[in-house]
Amino acid sequence: MNKWREYLKPTSLKIKWALGAGATIFFAFFTFSFFQYHAIDKWMLQEEESSFNRVLDELTVFYTQRGPKITLEEIYDSRDLLNQIIEKDQTIRVLDRTGKEVLVLSSDHVPRYYVPFNPVKDKVVALLETNDKQIYVGRSRITSEQFTGYVELIQPLTRYEHVMSNLFWMMTFSGVGALILSALFGYLLAKNFVKPLNKLSGTMRTIQKEGFQEKMEPIHSHDEISELSTIFNELMEKLEKSFNQQQQFVEDASHELRTPVQILEGHLSLLNRWGKKDPKVLEESLHASLQELQRVKKLVEELLDLTRTEREITDFSNEYSIVDETVEKIVKDFKFLHQNEHFKIIQMTSHPTKAIIQTRHLEQVLTILLDNAVKYSEKNSTTSIKIEEVDGFAKVSVKDQGFGIPIDDIPKVFNRFYRVDKARSREEGGNGLGLAIAKKIVEIYGGEISVQQNNGKGSTFQFLIPIVK
Ligand code: ADP
Repeated sequence: MNKWREYLKPTSLKIKWALGAGATIFFAFFTFSFFQYHAIDKWMLQEEESSFNRVLDELTVFYTQRGPKITLEEIYDSRDLLNQIIEKDQTIRVLDRTGKEVLVLSSDHVPRYYVPFNPVKDKVVALLETNDKQIYVGRSRITSEQFTGYVELIQPLTRYEHVMSNLFWMMTFSGVGALILSALFGYLLAKNFVKPLNKLSGTMRTIQKEGFQEKMEPIHSHDEISELSTIFNELMEKLEKSFNQQQQFVEDASHELRTPVQILEGHLSLLNRWGKKDPKVLEESLHASLQELQRVKKLVEELLDLTRTEREITDFSNEYSIVDETVEKIVKDFKFLHQNEHFKIIQMTSHPTKAIIQTRHLEQVLTILLDNAVKYSEKNSTTSIKIEEVDGFAKVSVKDQGFGIPIDDIPKVFNRFYRVDKARSREEGGNGLGLAIAKKIVEIYGGEISVQQNNGKGSTFQFLIPIVK
């Protein structure tokens, strides 16, 4: 039993759909047909009964109108007139008071039914049921001075039974037909619907085996499934991008870490070989190793910063920072740290500019840009910081008079670990991560960051952050 149940369990969506659609349509059809059949049955029976009563009444009226002196001969003579009243399948019998037949009128092909005789006073109509037939029998009394008896009308419900039986088979056949058709249509429809889903699961299986590069062919059916395929492809693209980025990140990070580790290794083996006895080597190597360790520490911190930024910020709609105040604070710190450098703030707005960004993040971006401006400029140069409001954004520009960035490098400076002049950057303690961090922060707040060459010397970095409305 369980085996059968297991076997019949519809595992495929197509079978489920076909069975579901078939069963639902069949049930609906069955219910509709059931009520329709019974309504027609009742109506037909009522029609039969009223037509039967009408004929019986006409017969009674016919004999009553003959007057109180109707004779047996007159009854025999009424045969022609009765033929006009009688309907198909009906039998008229005139009986005397003992129940003996005086006159019988019926079509030749109508079988005679034996109806037991019961004397009646008034009109009586009954529905008799034999083995396979239902018959209406009605009897009325005729009373005159010459003749006392009964007029009897017998009508088998042949027409009614015929119609109802036809209706029954018609409904059964169309029900079974509807069941088969709806199951078939359901199956074909489901097969059509399931096709893209099969494709999707096939693609997923390939991805599982071979990786993200596999894409699903776009489905242009403009329904939920085509939307699903689009979302799936977008998701796969994002996953692939993020996977590649992570891979690249790990490769870059290990590549960046390799140099300081190699340098450290060199110094330590030098120490191991000579340093124990030679205090000069000891001093130099220890100093260099410490410097390298500082660099590694900074690199690790920056890497963590880069990955942390995105995770930390989830809801920043209520955060804002007053740009001019933050710029002033950072510039003050820089002036203190770099006493030979000059910093100029140009404020284009008459009111404080409130940007939707956490102050510590705005400080971080400003620090990165000002630090670069100082690092990549000659001593005693001037850096100007301009604050404006443009189309709902706070725009901060950091303009230096430094070495500038070659036009070919401009699109790449925001990439992780990208350095225009490797030697100089390394000399300045740079890891090529500052601008990547700044870009990430600005973009998280819905802003933009860019750089351009100055007309004269140096370059200008500018970033936009949405302002509080
Ligand atoms: P780094 O820590 O090496 O400075 P960044 O991501 O901050 O890394 O900068 C990437 C590279 O872009 C730097 O190595 C440098 O070559 C170049 N760069 C950044 N800012 C400036 C600037 N103001 N002037 C000239 N070159 C710059």
